[in-house]
Amino acid sequence: MRQVFIAGNWKLNKSIKEAIELVTELKRDLIDIEAADIVVCPVFTALSDVSDVIIDSNIKLGAQDVYWQESGAFTGEVSSTLLKDAGCTYVIIGHSERRKYFFETDETVNKKIKAAQNAELIPIVCVGETLEERESGKTMEVIKGQLQGSLQSLDNQSLQALVIAYEPVWAIGTGKTATSSQAQEVHGFIRNWLIERCGSPVSQKIRILYGGSVKPSNIKELIQEPDIDGALVGGASLERETFSQIVKNAL
Ligand code: PEP
Repeated sequence: MRQVFIAGNWKLNKSIKEAIELVTELKRDLIDIEAADIVVCPVFTALSDVSDVIIDSNIKLGAQDVYWQESGAFTGEVSSTLLKDAGCTYVIIGHSERRKYFFETDETVNKKIKAAQNAELIPIVCVGETLEERESGKTMEVIKGQLQGSLQSLDNQSLQALVIAYEPVWAIGTGKTATSSQAQEVHGFIRNWLIERCGSPVSQKIRILYGGSVKPSNIKELIQEPDIDGALVGGASLERETFSQIVKNAL
């Protein structure tokens, strides 16, 4: 049985003060929830302050990116050990915005996953097709390529220690959600790929999240699908009511 997992990706939003306010409210709203893993991913500059607020609570901290080198002359980058130091448990890797605007590739995603796991961070690895790829019938081919490249040479133990997020690019921040059956079709494909890669017992333990315009009104239907284990939420995670309601509705 896979525990429901809901993560909020705050992207480039919220000052330290605003981040503290939001997470303080979420902590209050969600204090009784034990049956879900709840994660917030603020900007780097707010990580440490948010960590102080949620310490010993049921909300965990995630970063939005990481660099694979440990230290040295890499201006502007942040290593997994430093994220751990700031209080992170999770890190989002390979988000489509990073792939699009910062030229992230499956190869760099793979290096980041390995670096994160070396520091005992749990990667949330994003995959997803563009609208053009979907319309030309290439969705499964694209997802398979991203899985193969991103998860290259990870052993079963490493695969079991990560979370996958299927985020169709055309559904991110657009208000267009994949229907639950469209999402399940890809989640089922990912699960089968994992079964082939690492066998059924291991693959049944790996959580696969859906991301793309998740709201309180559509999470219930999505989460009922057999291979949708939770959500990576962008826009709707920036408001207390909507994020809290998504967590509650997912249960
Ligand atoms: C995301 O950025 O991961 C995301 C899913 O965004 P949104 O929920 O706003 O579509």
